[in-house]
Amino acid sequence: MMNLSIYTWGTGCAFGRELGLPPNRTRRHHVSSSIIGFENGEMRLHLLVDAGAPCVETMIDSGITRVPDVLFITHPHADHVSDFDKLAISRMRGLKFSGQVFAPLAVVASAECIANPTSGLRTRFGYLDFLLKWLPIPDYDVWYSLSAADGELLPTDSVSAQDKQFPVSFKALPVYHIQAPGACLFIFRFDEPRRKIVFSGDFDSIEESVIENHDLRDPDAMVLETNTLKAVRTNHSNWEVNKELIARWVTGKTKSLILLNHLSGSEDYEQGYYDHIPTDSDWAEEIGRFTPPANTDVVIAEDGKWYPIG
Ligand SMILES: [Zn+2]
Ligand SMILES: [Zn+2]
Repeated sequence: MMNLSIYTWGTGCAFGRELGLPPNRTRRHHVSSSIIGFENGEMRLHLLVDAGAPCVETMIDSGITRVPDVLFITHPHADHVSDFDKLAISRMRGLKFSGQVFAPLAVVASAECIANPTSGLRTRFGYLDFLLKWLPIPDYDVWYSLSAADGELLPTDSVSAQDKQFPVSFKALPVYHIQAPGACLFIFRFDEPRRKIVFSGDFDSIEESVIENHDLRDPDAMVLETNTLKAVRTNHSNWEVNKELIARWVTGKTKSLILLNHLSGSEDYEQGYYDHIPTDSDWAEEIGRFTPPANTDVVIAEDGKWYPIG
């Protein structure tokens, strides 16, 4: 039985801190989060979702001894892949010098996110092919697992428990996000203990039929992009929209942890909702006004922190 924790390496927006201004704003890194599974105190599984910088340095400084087994990319925007090449190279060197067997980093994303001829991951990071195993997701809304035999993607329905490389299934659902071909959210379903974890990725909007997808209901944990508190038309979600989504997705029947990330707020200032870019206490105050469903915690995620999933 695995104990699962979510690590949020970076919780900031696309731009980070402003170059040329005094360093008086809380530093928030580019977006990157891990699910790490522990058994008997040992790290047995490491799934990384997005690879914003400086996730590699933050992982090393946090004492993470298991390199990512699989990298999931929600969409190919720069703030989600700014540490991509460093991750692939540093991981290879770490495996080599710790005497472990090298296995390429499995990269899971929608087929369009990998193969788009302009902005696809393989178009941009093809020079790292020798360190990577590209695993395009054939279909949305289908559960997949990795095969123990060859690491390929298999529909979970077609594999037995012992034929899975890891005790987890995952599916992608499409979201709309500007200039991000193949943008998706991910749902992870762990076998034992039975746990469901959702990563929304960035989204301008989500189709009603996707919002209604049963598998989004009552996650044990969700990492939800919350670019602004009130500002609209930012090509991202905001806290007003997210409150409605939380109310629709979380019934309160089971314990649920909602982690908010991708925190910008600069558009709240630009659009006149605040006379300054919202500070950490502005964020905490606004989010603290919300009464979440029963058994639900809504937490502003922090860079380099971890959150056990009960
Ligand atoms: Zn982003
Ligand atoms: Zn984006």
